Amino acid sequence: MMRSLLLLTSLLCALAARGQTPAPKAPSPKKAMSTPDAPGAVRLTEAEWKARLSPMEYHILREKGTERPWTGEYLDTKTGGTYHCRACDAALFESTTKFDSHCGWPSFYASLPTVVTQVDRSHGMVRDEILCKRCGGHLGHVFNDGPEPTGLRYCVNSVSIVLRPSQPGQNVPRVEAPKPKQ
Ligand SMILES: [Zn+2]
Repeated sequence: MMRSLLLLTSLLCALAARGQTPAPKAPSPKKAMSTPDAPGAVRLTEAEWKARLSPMEYHILREKGTERPWTGEYLDTKTGGTYHCRACDAALFESTTKFDSHCGWPSFYASLPTVVTQVDRSHGMVRDEILCKRCGGHLGHVFNDGPEPTGLRYCVNSVSIVLRPSQPGQNVPRVEAPKPKQ
């Protein structure tokens, strides 16, 4: 009787210990802290940023705001080019990595090295905030539910970025000049 009780106790202990084992963590995006003092960093006072940006741009880039979903200028944009930081013009995302995430904001599965992440514990959530490395501007958040090849979804406010088309006017059908007859 004593023996079976001991056995039972050790079994319960083993089960309890197993319960304490932390669950395997989902892979998290590569971490890199924002380095506003990096060479080439753009450092302005908040008053200077306010003068340089529109109220909406200031709210999102400097106060870490979020534009309303499905309202952003670049939500459905398919134009080829590079998306730059609206505050400092650093190149942040290539249009070739943009995809339809159906989440209400422009989404990319990869970023250029100018995009850095830091942990954001606001609003009772733990998220990876994405920032422009050059000016520290807030861009959005990155999640682990993106498509291949990275599995990442960079969810970006349109207000934080500006598209520089690789070929200006490429969406406009171009009329070829008639070739001279030979
Ligand atoms: Zn920037």
